[in-house]
Amino acid sequence: MNQENNENLMNKIVSLCKRRGFVYPASEIYGGFANTFDYGPMGVELKNNIKSEWWKRFVTSREDIIGLDSAIIQNPKTWEASGHLSSFSDPLVECKKCHSRFRQDQIKETRNKKSSFAEATEDRQIQNNNDQNRIPDQVGDDGQKCKNGGEHEWTEAKDFNLMFKTFVGPTQEKDSVAYLRPETAQGIFSNFKNVIQSNRIKIPFGIAQIGKAFRNEITPGNFTFRTLEFEQAEIEYFIEPNKEKSATEYNKWISEAKKFFLDLGVKKENLSIREHEKDELSHYSMGTSDIEYNFPFGVSELAGIAQRSDYDLFQHQKYSGQDLQYREEGKEPYIPYVVEPSFGIDRAMLAFLVDAYDESDGSDGRERGEVTLRLNPKIAPIKVAVFPLMKKEGLPEIAKKIYKDLIDADLASFYDESGSIGRRYRRQDEIGTPWCITVDFDSLKDDTVTLRDRDTMKQERVKINEIVSSIKYHV
Ligand code: ATP
Repeated sequence: MNQENNENLMNKIVSLCKRRGFVYPASEIYGGFANTFDYGPMGVELKNNIKSEWWKRFVTSREDIIGLDSAIIQNPKTWEASGHLSSFSDPLVECKKCHSRFRQDQIKETRNKKSSFAEATEDRQIQNNNDQNRIPDQVGDDGQKCKNGGEHEWTEAKDFNLMFKTFVGPTQEKDSVAYLRPETAQGIFSNFKNVIQSNRIKIPFGIAQIGKAFRNEITPGNFTFRTLEFEQAEIEYFIEPNKEKSATEYNKWISEAKKFFLDLGVKKENLSIREHEKDELSHYSMGTSDIEYNFPFGVSELAGIAQRSDYDLFQHQKYSGQDLQYREEGKEPYIPYVVEPSFGIDRAMLAFLVDAYDESDGSDGRERGEVTLRLNPKIAPIKVAVFPLMKKEGLPEIAKKIYKDLIDADLASFYDESGSIGRRYRRQDEIGTPWCITVDFDSLKDDTVTLRDRDTMKQERVKINEIVSSIKYHV
């Protein structure tokens, strides 16, 4: 797809999200609030389903990973220990003429970097598009334009800390400064001792957490891709302090993370792995890879897998004065190494939406331009929509009974009796509902209904009393 089509696609997705209640601009009645979004009725269901699939896969279905929900505002020493206070910053440059601010590394990135996706595909067209797409929104197409004319004139880069500062208590003094967490991970490390003391769990094991994180991003943009507040799903997987074990676990997690996206519907050709160059790594990191996705605005990070050695626990031990060593019979106490898979839920949702978006060319029985969201049924906001063909002769009563059976069986469903059947199908296709059920006059005679499949548009007659079990089988 060329850049214009990519932009078009992104605009269409943003507009669908607003129109059908997935994502709204936050504080819209007050003119909005930069790069902050609210999730509407469909969006919250989709996001909850992604989180629940993640939690089921990585926590409840595994013996070696347990969950946690730590506070957003922690003792500020946490961020001293983790290094976020001193070094969680981006190099900021400002144009002396138009005063726009950009991350220096993103401007350089625009000019220098080729994505591994583009290189892997060896597709010059994609490569060109991706290079252009890496340009921050405000820089302009050639990467140089200033809105006051000509090229930008950059100041020297200054470090800009990304943590949001706040005050706890009635006074706004130095001692009452606190921070909104910029990642969920540190709450896991600071609870390491509590978790090992209150659970019978042995290394190797992981602690998982899903929750909000906050970053005062300098160049947010691209819809929900980079926002000021977002949700992370992170695992700290603790292992013996051994480089080979760390490398093995790291490779396993790269595959696990990739599989999560593939199993829930991301197309293989849109995923790629980018291993960080040596000069991108923090001093303690023994390797980091990004799972990247081919977003319409360019190939960008969806999730990251990092080998963090014993750095975090070591730092918290030092700053708290507490013993954070792990004890195992027959071995000297040790601080474990950790491998960290870190997912962004908002970015995952955006990738699922992009991959699912399908506009008919008119050859599949739909009208040209009609939109179907081909979301995996497991994450679709609504699984089944139930329609009476007409509002008479007892059809709505039968349809409402089916609807009630479905919601009683924990299947998110929707009842709709208004408009033509074709229109009702289209409304459901647009929000990704995998199945529609229509109660018609034959239903009165033989207790069957029409079950219509979103993707194939095939319709079959099914027995009313078999609906719940056959849908349950698929989700
Ligand atoms: P980037 O390089 O894009 O700024 P990062 O490397 O700083 O991302 P991490 O610190 O590794 O990101 O965070 C883990 C995950 O959290 C990311 O892979 C991404 O999915 C998500 N994430 C990070 N920052 C944001 C943000 N500002 N908005 C939405 N999601 C984010």
